[in-house]
Amino acid sequence: MDARHRVLTTGDLVATENAFFAATGSPSAPRCAASGSGEAQSSHTHSLALDAVPVHLAPPHRRTPMERPPDVNSKPLSPDARREALARLADEELDVLVIGGGVVGAGSALDAVTRGLKVGLVEARDYASGTSSRSSKLFHGGLRYLEQFNFALVFEALRERALVLNTLCPHLARPVPFIYPLEKPIDRAYVGLGIGVYDVMGAGRGVPAHMKHLSRKKTMESFPSGKRSTIRGAIRFYEGQVDDARHTMMLARTAADYGALCANSTRVTGFLREGDRVVGVTAQDLESGNEVQIRAREVINAAGVWTDEIQRMVGGRGQFQVRASKGIHIVVPRNRINSATGIITRTEKSLLFIIPWGSHWIIGTTDTDWNLDLAHPAASRTDIDYVLDQANKLLADPLTREDVVGVYAGLRPLLSGESESTSKLSREHAVTSPVRGLTMIAGGKYTTYRVMAKDAVDAAAHGLEQLVPPSCTERVLLAGADGYLGDHNARHLIAERSKLHVSKIEHLLGRYGSLISELLDLVAERPELGEPLATAPEYLRVEAYYAASHEGALHLEDVLTRRTRISIETPDRGDAAAAEVAELIAPVLGWDDQHVAREIEHYRARVKAERDSQTQQDDHTADAARLGAPDVRVGARDAG
Ligand SMILES: Cc1cc2nc3c(=O)[nH]c(=O)nc-3n(C[C@H](O)[C@H](O)[C@H](O)COP(=O)(O)OP(=O)(O)OC[C@H]3O[C@@H](n4cnc5c(N)ncnc54)[C@H](O)[C@@H]3O)c2cc1C
Repeated sequence: MDARHRVLTTGDLVATENAFFAATGSPSAPRCAASGSGEAQSSHTHSLALDAVPVHLAPPHRRTPMERPPDVNSKPLSPDARREALARLADEELDVLVIGGGVVGAGSALDAVTRGLKVGLVEARDYASGTSSRSSKLFHGGLRYLEQFNFALVFEALRERALVLNTLCPHLARPVPFIYPLEKPIDRAYVGLGIGVYDVMGAGRGVPAHMKHLSRKKTMESFPSGKRSTIRGAIRFYEGQVDDARHTMMLARTAADYGALCANSTRVTGFLREGDRVVGVTAQDLESGNEVQIRAREVINAAGVWTDEIQRMVGGRGQFQVRASKGIHIVVPRNRINSATGIITRTEKSLLFIIPWGSHWIIGTTDTDWNLDLAHPAASRTDIDYVLDQANKLLADPLTREDVVGVYAGLRPLLSGESESTSKLSREHAVTSPVRGLTMIAGGKYTTYRVMAKDAVDAAAHGLEQLVPPSCTERVLLAGADGYLGDHNARHLIAERSKLHVSKIEHLLGRYGSLISELLDLVAERPELGEPLATAPEYLRVEAYYAASHEGALHLEDVLTRRTRISIETPDRGDAAAAEVAELIAPVLGWDDQHVAREIEHYRARVKAERDSQTQQDDHTADAARLGAPDVRVGARDAG
């Protein structure tokens, strides 16, 4: 098949038919018309099996907490590693270069490098700074796909959920119980049937099986904040949860562990061509301003909502377009809602999630078209009021704007085809090669990132015209997974040895897994790093330091918004923590006093602009207010 016309889509069109939710009286409003299985399509590609792949590959840096000395080479996303990666990206020809450090790009880099390929990954801003830090943070099968009777897609997503929870990163992902409150007598039959099917399909897939029907009394016991006049009972079931920004960064870190050359703050500005073939990219290091040419036999574009922009750099129209749909979440303190589980309910437009998140709840989301700035989608007052109104339908003591501690907005990269040939693309994700040497991957959802990555690398491998082993990522543990369970069992011992409280050890294990040893080594050297941050005591000082030394954070904003979630978890949105964190990371990043002051100023301007935008009535005024803050990455605004 001609590579230029090869489109690997995923699954079958399905009818946007009503199902059990619709039967409850709620209008069915599926966002995507179709979906399907990427695995089923992999036969389009020519990647050939070579050797058997070892079971449960783990990055080569595992150490037992407190027992082995610090290893200077175990810093794959350190500032030095970034500098070295950029130098090598300029010097060496790669097999595969991936554009975009969201979950799909980072996943693709990991997929490619664990097939034995020479891989680069460039991200314009920070890892996960696009949609991949702004999701609902659930690995889920997708109840809404059941409404569309798309069992294949649900099954695939549930399998991915199980992989992530059980094997790939049990340190980062965990099962979370939810209830679906029932409001009408007929709900129990229809919702129960739907969730029952979901439950059976998901049985043994990473979460406790067997959904439970709850009477009204039991529901109110579990959800005392629920509105008695509305709720007649509930069905309880489980989903998977992950901190999306940390998970995506860990994918990049694991890829770097395996040898991928990873550079954030590196924006692709154009393509290198030889004849009609793409042979690499031009890029700008946004930290130094330097231009770099990166040569690669195959380039994968995984730029999410920026896909069309990259397509324009190649010229011509792509075989699909990506449109952005905005979804916002609000964050409220945990004590504002008394419930033992998360809550999922149907709204007029989609689903509303009330999700437990440490000492907070995350509540969302919305679903509206967005044609404004892609890098900084803004939540308007209207968006926030909408989410509050929807949540308050279930709450006895209504939430108000004053309860809102944090707000974030993200953009779903939705496929849209516009011509005859592209009209079949209303699926979950699609892979296409518009010109030789370039593969485009877009659409999908966080839960199925691994399948998307595999499909993208399969397509790129086809262009390499050599034998390439099949994807092995279903057996590649993310950094920190190997040894995590043992460390978790030994948490009291680790607490005793490190002199940190066991609750802190649990906190660290849930964010770093067995890499906890690296943080504890730092604390052993500098005990003050074991103290909590004065203004965000849920985090230890060492976490801020480590974000810069080991996790690729290059700016204060990276630490406050993605390595930690201080920006949405503290009422001042990290304003006070900014100075403390900047001082901690300054020595790692080589900042002088002026640089520290500039970073703090940037961060505070960002917080102010976000707050301003959230008081605006509509998207246009909110966008204008958000753009009032300059971007900390020089030239990064152009990326949006
Ligand atoms: C509100 C909301 C809730 C969601 N909830 C869920 C959920 O609970 N579960 C689920 O499974 N899915 C969920 N999703 C979907 C999921 O978050 C996305 O599908 C996924 O994160 C997209 O990842 P991506 O890698 O394609 O895009 P992105 O994360 O946006 O990554 C693209 C990257 O490309 C970079 N880039 C752009 N241009 C350039 C350039 N020129 N050079 C270099 N890099 C560039 C960007 O900076 C960006 O980091 C949700 C989405 C939204 C919006």
